[in-house]
Amino acid sequence: MESRQSSQSLQSTGSPESAEHRQFRAGVRAWIADNKPAQPDFMLPQSFLEVETEAQFDYLRRWQKQLYEAGYLGFDVPREYGGQGVDSARQSIVQQELGRAGAPFFVNQIALQWVAPTILTYGTEEQKKRLIQPLLSADEIWCQGFSEPGAGSDLASLQTRANAVEGGYRVTGHKVWTTLAHFARWMILLARTDPEADRYGGLSYFLFPMDTDGVVIQPLVKMTGEGGFNQVLFEDAFMPSDSLLGAEGQGWKIAMTTLTFERGAAQSQNRERAAADARALSELVALVRSTMRDGRPVGDDALFRDRLAALWIELEAIRLGARRASVAGLTADHPHALAMMHKVEFSEFRQRLNRLACEVLGPEAMLWLGDANAPDRAEWPRGLMNSYGFTIGGGTSEIQRNIVGERVLGLPKSK
Ligand SMILES: Cc1cc2nc3c(=O)[nH]c(=O)nc-3n(C[C@H](O)[C@H](O)[C@H](O)COP(=O)(O)OP(=O)(O)OC[C@H]3O[C@@H](n4cnc5c(N)ncnc54)[C@H](O)[C@@H]3O)c2cc1C
Repeated sequence: MESRQSSQSLQSTGSPESAEHRQFRAGVRAWIADNKPAQPDFMLPQSFLEVETEAQFDYLRRWQKQLYEAGYLGFDVPREYGGQGVDSARQSIVQQELGRAGAPFFVNQIALQWVAPTILTYGTEEQKKRLIQPLLSADEIWCQGFSEPGAGSDLASLQTRANAVEGGYRVTGHKVWTTLAHFARWMILLARTDPEADRYGGLSYFLFPMDTDGVVIQPLVKMTGEGGFNQVLFEDAFMPSDSLLGAEGQGWKIAMTTLTFERGAAQSQNRERAAADARALSELVALVRSTMRDGRPVGDDALFRDRLAALWIELEAIRLGARRASVAGLTADHPHALAMMHKVEFSEFRQRLNRLACEVLGPEAMLWLGDANAPDRAEWPRGLMNSYGFTIGGGTSEIQRNIVGERVLGLPKSK
């Protein structure tokens, strides 16, 4: 949605910044203005879930690498593993400025937001030294092999086997909905190592090398016609012993750590989303102002104005929630409560935002990608369809509500 109006008026940075941070922010802003890549002559994906072609991938990978090499990526990773040293204020500033500028997203999102913190928590020194830096620079892309045809919401019923053999493990099974597997060098793989143990205790967590023999990657197509995810078949594929993360049988616990980050504990991801969503909301305001219905601007209609205001209030709540979640003292009683709510909030907000845009467009929302008459190049109906990826991926809204009900509110278990 590059061509739409900027969102300065709808964004706020909160409390006053120190002189040092103001200077840092100015530097980041200037660097982005000088280096943000031009819009390419091919269609870009709307998020990391839809990266399909080599051209899209190369464009996005180059951008992440450039940002890393400029010293603006990796403020949540210690220097000895290739990061900038942990500095959440600077990280937050970079994320806000990227969102504000409408800069491209990072293609290695799974690695940055979920894999890196998991490896930093459970990895050996060798694993951290070998794997973290190349994921920051986007030299090595990661995918996530958790879901299977019979194991999505009920992840613990997964059947993929990793059998211990001389020097490592052999993997047999079937993963599905595997985002970015077609570009990935590594997969975080959850597999069953002990079929005799209970459904949780029999699972182990691996850092699986995708360039191994016996791995078949088959692309799947989404309802927009775009790709981005795959099914991955393992046919007796070998991985060495040091692929194991943590201990055998510890897989469920480690997977829950990854999912906690995926579902909102990655604070930088939340701030970037809030900034990007503020921009999208400004673009919707511009659309409402410029679209005529029955000879009058849609913006004159009290119902549309009311829904727009509701979205703005919702976004402010999400933004402030993300800020609050980053202050340990405010969340000490329930460290992950806000994070657990965040996924439901942001994903459903995006759905409502895109749906409202499609209602504003009326019949013109039917005009699809490639149609010269489609308003905003059909990015709104495309956004509505793609928004379902976020209310399903990483745990559906229903599952998230169950988790919030049980673990935050202390309600009885659903089953
Ligand atoms: C765009 C996209 C990208 C994805 N990328 C990845 C990836 O990279 N790696 C990966 O491993 N997986 C990925 N997934 C898979 C995703 O995690 C699963 O789709 C999700 O966990 C739901 O599982 P399922 O599809 O098997 O649906 P099911 O679990 O079969 O659920 C079907 C419906 O039943 C509801 N339901 C199920 N159980 C309950 C319950 N206990 N209470 C209330 N309602 C319930 C669900 O909410 C849902 O509406 C991706 C999915 C999408 C859409």
